[in-house]
Amino acid sequence: ATPTAVMVATGVGANNGVLIKGGDALERAQMVKYVIFDKTGTLTQGKATVTTVKVFTGMERGEFLTLVASAEASSEHPLGKAILQYARHFHFFDESSTTNGTLNDAKELSSGWLHDVSDFSALPGRGVQCFIDGKRILVGNRKLLSENGIDISTEVENFVVELEESAKTGILVAYDDVLTGVLGVADPLKREASVVIDGLHKMGVIPVMVTGDNWRTARAVAKELGIQDVRAEVMPAGKADVVRSFQKDGSVVAMVGDGINDSPALAAADVGMAIGAGTDIAIEAADYVLMRYNLEDVITAIDLSRKTFSRIR
Ligand code: ADP
Ligand code: MG
Repeated sequence: ATPTAVMVATGVGANNGVLIKGGDALERAQMVKYVIFDKTGTLTQGKATVTTVKVFTGMERGEFLTLVASAEASSEHPLGKAILQYARHFHFFDESSTTNGTLNDAKELSSGWLHDVSDFSALPGRGVQCFIDGKRILVGNRKLLSENGIDISTEVENFVVELEESAKTGILVAYDDVLTGVLGVADPLKREASVVIDGLHKMGVIPVMVTGDNWRTARAVAKELGIQDVRAEVMPAGKADVVRSFQKDGSVVAMVGDGINDSPALAAADVGMAIGAGTDIAIEAADYVLMRYNLEDVITAIDLSRKTFSRIR
């Protein structure tokens, strides 16, 4: 392709919200064999919502939700935010009122309804831990609980499995070292996700999904989308290793992600695509920025490269 063709393609991309950082990036995209997608916030909307609350002890539901929300109050994680929002809604949203209910702003905003917590720590890929009145509270996945010596009964395990098989994430809660309850969280797929996966298959490109979420939820999501290759329970630092494993035989690999967690993988990929006006770090690590927050632009980007370099396969 001539320098003019590259310039034209870059302009066409920009008009479609696809920012291409240089001619090399534009050229590499035509040869992509694998596109590795981050799950949360990339294939899914990243808008987690609590769909299920189950308490396994005699604790009252409202008290359970206050405890969990208090533990998650300092969390930056979308799951933590979803839980806090749900608990707030449970306590302050008056369903009986006419216009979709009303919020009791003063109390809600004061966060005076939350317990004081001490020694909060966020444990990447696992969950959170803190103390309330000297009692430890753990909120997160199985790994978090088992690492802390909390028993998961068959009843609880079965309940979590059921959530995961319906593509939800099960969040386990141990209070004072007793497994107290489980929350189910759903994160809907982006509308265009399955069309884009089909489109990639048709172009001879293999889609892959990578996630820190558990295997069962990951498989359920992948199945809905028609993605055959899944890597789950990947720790935040591990996503770049997944990229490198696909590059081993010389294949050209694209990575599509949105978060801070994804930036090492975006940098490791031959073609890193940051989706949305995401985090600065992700944008910096990427070769492409897909400004419209739409997965169809992954296809637009590959097409543009193929057309520019006249390698339509
Ligand atoms: P993803 O790649 O899907 O964004 P993360 O690495 O952020 O995954 O998290 C992996 C898993 O760790 C989550 O699916 C969840 O089970 C658990 N987890 C992480 N942070 C939290 C939190 N704040 N509250 C509850 N669970 C959490
Ligand atoms: Mg993400």
